[in-house]
Amino acid sequence: MIVRKSAAEIETMREAGRISARALRMVGEAVRVGVTTKELDEIAEEAIRSQGAVPAFKGYHGFPATLCTSINDQVVHGIPSSTCVLSEGDIVSVDVGAIFEGYYGDNAATFPVGTVSEQALRLLDVTKRSLEAGIKKCVVGGRLYDIGAAVQEVAEGAGFSVVREYVGHGIGSAMHEDPNVPNYGVAGKGPVLAEGMVFAIEPMINAGSHAVESLPDGWTVVTRDGSLSAHFEHTVAVTADGPLVLTSET
Ligand code: MG
Repeated sequence: MIVRKSAAEIETMREAGRISARALRMVGEAVRVGVTTKELDEIAEEAIRSQGAVPAFKGYHGFPATLCTSINDQVVHGIPSSTCVLSEGDIVSVDVGAIFEGYYGDNAATFPVGTVSEQALRLLDVTKRSLEAGIKKCVVGGRLYDIGAAVQEVAEGAGFSVVREYVGHGIGSAMHEDPNVPNYGVAGKGPVLAEGMVFAIEPMINAGSHAVESLPDGWTVVTRDGSLSAHFEHTVAVTADGPLVLTSET
């Protein structure tokens, strides 16, 4: 069942989203050659707690950190570490969520470290644009799979591929609620979108094949062919006035 949120709940989620967005921006500003992903994790945890919220991922199914940090061919769910040092030319995907007054915010972005390849820059641009195309489909009367179809069109139109095994999700008083929000699909299909629905839309786009596999740590997901992967995410409410991005500082 897709839970629809009241205007008051969406206001609270907006605050959770604002806190999550601020943490993500602060991490992005700290990304540079030589920083460890553990240092980034500490910045995020401090940012979230100092705003009166709680990291959403820490302890979630046993996940040990505030951030997921996924470098280069890592797709999602990489674990921050004091031995993982960012290098010139890397791309690092950062996923961060916060719980504020019982409601969740969830967002992600992929950042370049120093100067990166042309292909990496294009992958970041296309993945971000695919997210924006998906967000535009969060309108009353639209259909759920309009979102994934829009993401897929942008990503595949640029010659990249869409990860199938991991998808976006409903979000509210739980981090993962119904429905699954795939980043692929056929427009005009799926549940009808209604006011008060809130989705975490999160395209994971690979430069090569869409196939992925998990590392033995039980968390980190990598591309099977070793190609680069990028990840952007926003928490978005369907409102009478159109899509409302909750993971925004403004
Ligand atoms: Mg998410």
